[in-house]
Amino acid sequence: MTEKIESLEDIIKDEPAFRRQQIYLAWFDKNIHSFEEITTLSKDLRAKLKNIPWMTVKERVLQQSKIDGTRKALLEFADGRVVESVLMPRVSKKMIPGDKPRYTICVSSQVGCPMACTFCATGKLGFSRNLTYREIIDQMRYWQELLWKTEEGKVDNIVFMGQGEPLLNYNNVKLALNILIKGAEIGPRKITVSTVGLAETMNKMVDDKHWPPVRFALSLHSAINENRTSIMPSNRADFLDFLVDWSKRYHLAFPSRTHFIGIEYIMLGGVNDSPKNLDALIKLVQKMGSVKVNLIPYNPGSKKDFFGATPIETIKHWQEKMNQKNIICTVRRSQGLDIAAACGQLANLDKQND
Ligand code: SF4
Repeated sequence: MTEKIESLEDIIKDEPAFRRQQIYLAWFDKNIHSFEEITTLSKDLRAKLKNIPWMTVKERVLQQSKIDGTRKALLEFADGRVVESVLMPRVSKKMIPGDKPRYTICVSSQVGCPMACTFCATGKLGFSRNLTYREIIDQMRYWQELLWKTEEGKVDNIVFMGQGEPLLNYNNVKLALNILIKGAEIGPRKITVSTVGLAETMNKMVDDKHWPPVRFALSLHSAINENRTSIMPSNRADFLDFLVDWSKRYHLAFPSRTHFIGIEYIMLGGVNDSPKNLDALIKLVQKMGSVKVNLIPYNPGSKKDFFGATPIETIKHWQEKMNQKNIICTVRRSQGLDIAAACGQLANLDKQND
């Protein structure tokens, strides 16, 4: 019989909360590279942690866009499974020579995804498993270490828009968020969790006193129910009505003026970009209180793709129409298109080399 290898959780399960905090803080300390180097821990505990890997992710492939510098990493876990994670530089017009870009990372919360959204390359992979809280935060630590090594700066923003549906992995995502906010000193408003809309878990979230005040984004993609179901099979027949009621509860739970609900809308040519779709979207968001609509140009995943892109003129027209109704609406600048790192393109392509 093989002996069970003790995990980090086995070792620290009876330790007081402050010990865990010491470990969490050390994970984001540039000068600490192993559990043995955490001098705030007792010698005894450090000895027990000696064989626990300091990082749970290993870089398998790293690619960089020639167009905009976006990088995409295929990261491998101890069980050989992989996810993709993306680093996007944001260069602003206000920057002066010598300024470093701000960096946003896109992290994954599951290996694959069971939600099967029809426009998403990850959805076509199917679901393998949830990531642990360490595997989620180690995606951030991986990018942070890379930026430290190259002296390019630091991770400024985190979006949970990579592979997987974060609310299906609620407990691990919640713990990872709380550790990131405390340990990495990334403010909650610099972190966005995006979901396709799981009604029960959204209810749980607004009632949960330990869910941090991070930004919330909903992948809507259509404000016409049947149309939404046709592209997002997880859609519930009553979801749009639920969303209007839930938004009121959300704004009560997070009353800050800056706490708008992000509405993500991927524009699929001839599928969800008709004038009827626009009217329905305007009517819906007007009932939802403080929202910000983000229109996403569609990025085809492969030549066999079912969907076409909506012309940019149509996207601009939608934006103008919404602005005229005093709805804040932005158009996402797709990054990393040449390395399949943009929205909906994460497909673990290295898998074919496994
Ligand atoms: S869009 Fe998000 S929820 Fe839908 S299949 Fe892709 S990863 Fe899953």
